[in-house]
Amino acid sequence: MYEKKILLSLFLLFFLTNCKSPEPSAETKIYTPGKKAKNIILMIGDGMGLAQITAAMYTNKNRIALEQFPYIGFHKQHSYNDLITDSAAGATAFACGVKTYNNAIGVSPDTVAVESILEEAKLQGKATGVVVTSIIVHATPASFYAHQPLRVFYEDIALDLMDEEVDFVVGGGKAYFNQRKNDNRNLYFELTEKGYQTYSFDEKTMNGITINPSQNFIYFTSNYQPPEIESGRNYLPYASLLGADFLSKHSEEGFFLLVEGSQIDWRGHSNEGKRMIKETLDFNNAIKRVLDFASRRDDTLVIVTADHETGGMAIQPGSKMRKIETAFTTNNHTGTLVPVFAFGPSAELFAGIYDNTEIYKKMREAYGFDDAVAKNIDNTAK
Ligand code: MG
Ligand code: ZN
Repeated sequence: MYEKKILLSLFLLFFLTNCKSPEPSAETKIYTPGKKAKNIILMIGDGMGLAQITAAMYTNKNRIALEQFPYIGFHKQHSYNDLITDSAAGATAFACGVKTYNNAIGVSPDTVAVESILEEAKLQGKATGVVVTSIIVHATPASFYAHQPLRVFYEDIALDLMDEEVDFVVGGGKAYFNQRKNDNRNLYFELTEKGYQTYSFDEKTMNGITINPSQNFIYFTSNYQPPEIESGRNYLPYASLLGADFLSKHSEEGFFLLVEGSQIDWRGHSNEGKRMIKETLDFNNAIKRVLDFASRRDDTLVIVTADHETGGMAIQPGSKMRKIETAFTTNNHTGTLVPVFAFGPSAELFAGIYDNTEIYKKMREAYGFDDAVAKNIDNTAK
């Protein structure tokens, strides 16, 4: 009996010292249901499934900014022609409200251009922005401002960005603008001619720039893909807040901002758990900055989700707090439900289980856009 008590005490001591409950999270603001959002910040952690979120949280002293989001849902990620989406079809579903084929950028299965939420926001007088840790012509951001039958048409996607004139842009891929193979145009120069404040990594650091919020702004963070966080990339949290702040001053009608933690997916493809966790925690820092911005005002809806999970990642037995053992089942994307977190006015719309295309519809509803003008009719996936 005595021995049993000692064993029990030892067990409890072990349990209590190893599994501290999290500190109470910062105040979660709940809005009157149905309140419209003037601004929307959509944050996509490419390839960030529940295992990725959990691993990052346990590595980060059991805390993650997502704990402050009052409404949580799940979306069905499948695309038009595949049970498992790629980032192009996944982002097109969010951006345009249509299920399309893998590799499609802002087009329906018959390759017809479909208006995106970013484009509609712009037509409504709102400012628009894109902040990513990939090239800015990569599939996820491109699906919001471009319309191309294939995601690899990077130089054509760059031309679409020239036409769309997104107001605030931060990401890599300067070479697709000033070292073009399809034509001899120098789009980097043309952006300046269009009135952009045009900057790049080889000229000036981002936080050394005095930005005029009434003039469009573009900053290239690399010639091709930006470095990973482990190799010194550090701009995502700063640029996300800078973007929100810039856009809130750029138009009185509000804004749409897309933020992507692009490289969580890449470390999933390469099955590198520790580096994947670093990318997810960088994205978490961006979420924190955006939440700071949104919680100081009452007009900004923040949505965090992923296009799909990557790697079929698991948290293995033997894992400990701050020391997570990961394992992967594939180098590709997987088909599990993907979590959605929402904070701010109309956040309640995002609770439940729904198709990825519903995120587009819910964002339109949150903005209060007229249903009668919704041209994008959801097609049923195969
Ligand atoms: Mg992506
Ligand atoms: Zn991927």
